[in-house]
Amino acid sequence: MSEIGSDFIELYEEIADCPNCALARQRTQTVPGSGPASAEIMFIGEAPGAREDEQGFPFVGPSGKFLDDLLASIGLSRETVYICNVVKCRPPDNRDPQPEEIAACKPFLNRQIEIISPKVIVTLGRFSMAPWFPDTTIGRVHGQPIEVDGRFIVPMYHPAAALHRGSLRGEIEADFARLPELLKQAI
Ligand code: URA
Repeated sequence: MSEIGSDFIELYEEIADCPNCALARQRTQTVPGSGPASAEIMFIGEAPGAREDEQGFPFVGPSGKFLDDLLASIGLSRETVYICNVVKCRPPDNRDPQPEEIAACKPFLNRQIEIISPKVIVTLGRFSMAPWFPDTTIGRVHGQPIEVDGRFIVPMYHPAAALHRGSLRGEIEADFARLPELLKQAI
């Protein structure tokens, strides 16, 4: 969590104390996000898993290692991007986050987007793409950016899906390869 500003410190404190859904009662700790407020690109995953719940940082398990490799393949690293999740607490047994949990956490995600104001948002998996890409599937739209409020939103497969289904690996790598060009295009 390098270079976080005072807005973030306040937000992270609020997240740490959040009692707003059932996940609050089971967490070891909250997993607000990581990366500098100056990041031009923001990645939004689904929810913390067991390792993230233990360590308090997003994507520190196997899918995080793959995410690091994907970032490195386009010359980026964790120090320069912002990474967070749709929900900030671990769902038990790694079940899907429920609609009321996503809704309870939404104001936190909105504030993160507001503070960072990234040029590009990459959604990882179906839960984070849902607000911008309703009524479609990731298989149909992955890698195809849309412009919303002056920034690009790019839906991508979740790295864990690509780890479990080898055939998706090439797809997510190809989608990542297009990000540098998109960042250049973004104002
Ligand atoms: N999967 C996610 O979506 N987020 C994490 O932080 C870890 C795994």
